[in-house]
Amino acid sequence: MPCAATDKRYNLFSAHLKERFGGRVHKISVDAGLGCPNRDGGRQGGGCLFCDPDGSGSVGIERQLSVGEQLEQGKEVMVRKYKARHFMAYFQPFSNTFAPPAQLRALYDEALAVSDMVGLAVGTRPDCLPAPVIDLLADYHQRTYLWLELGLQSCHDATLAHLRRGHDYATFLAAYARAKEAGLRVCVHVILGLPREDRVMMLATADELARLRVDGVKIHLLHVLTGTKLGEAFLRGEVAVLGQEEYVSLVVEFLERLHPATLVQRLTGDGPRQRLLAPLWSLAKWEVLNAIDAELARRNSFQGVACRIDGER
Ligand code: SF4
Repeated sequence: MPCAATDKRYNLFSAHLKERFGGRVHKISVDAGLGCPNRDGGRQGGGCLFCDPDGSGSVGIERQLSVGEQLEQGKEVMVRKYKARHFMAYFQPFSNTFAPPAQLRALYDEALAVSDMVGLAVGTRPDCLPAPVIDLLADYHQRTYLWLELGLQSCHDATLAHLRRGHDYATFLAAYARAKEAGLRVCVHVILGLPREDRVMMLATADELARLRVDGVKIHLLHVLTGTKLGEAFLRGEVAVLGQEEYVSLVVEFLERLHPATLVQRLTGDGPRQRLLAPLWSLAKWEVLNAIDAELARRNSFQGVACRIDGER
């Protein structure tokens, strides 16, 4: 069934927010300057193959400003452009639980002190969620609208090892279980088009997300950026990227396999234009999103129609 509020054939997160808060909610990315254990934690390898040294979503962020100042600045732009009234602070670049709980508490409180901030989204890695941090997040879950955004990328250990993620799938499953036990809403990030993954492997990740009945998902297209190890490999001719048609059909099949209740928070990525090596077609984001809608309509298909959980088909 199409979503009554949007006519989309998938469960659109922004529509959910609109219904819950009585108006559109604008996410503002904020850089708390916390770094990442996979880059800065003394491990060999220096981060994931695709890691952007500036941190994902950092375009436009003035990281020398405090969290509160970044959010006020972001709000000002959104109010001017969209007459926005509701906001969420999105701790996006790097790993936003990579600090002692007292420091995290101060940062999250600073964000929530900004007026009209209706909630928080905290992005991090599965190996960066010790028990005291889960307890802290559970406390925020009680008093605000909180999403934990957990980077998985793939459920295949061979892929995670090749990407130098620094964690395996079992680590993700353990972190996910702890977060769900604490009652947290969890959005899982995955990437389509990773090196050494074929269609069957990518769709197996969708089946895993369906099995886990994740609350939310962000589907990203692999972006190859200058200044990354992946970019160097691409320039040596060692990395192939997806074509638009292939990506669109993969996303559609991925959506078909998800649980119907999972909120879809993203269907492609926003690579920094100046540093994007490939795929360049991804710069036309609306074209990609429209093509996904068109393909779902052509197949007369919906999120969840091929969900493999017993009783969900
Ligand atoms: S987890 Fe994120 S920030 Fe850390 S190395 Fe990987 S891509 Fe970079």
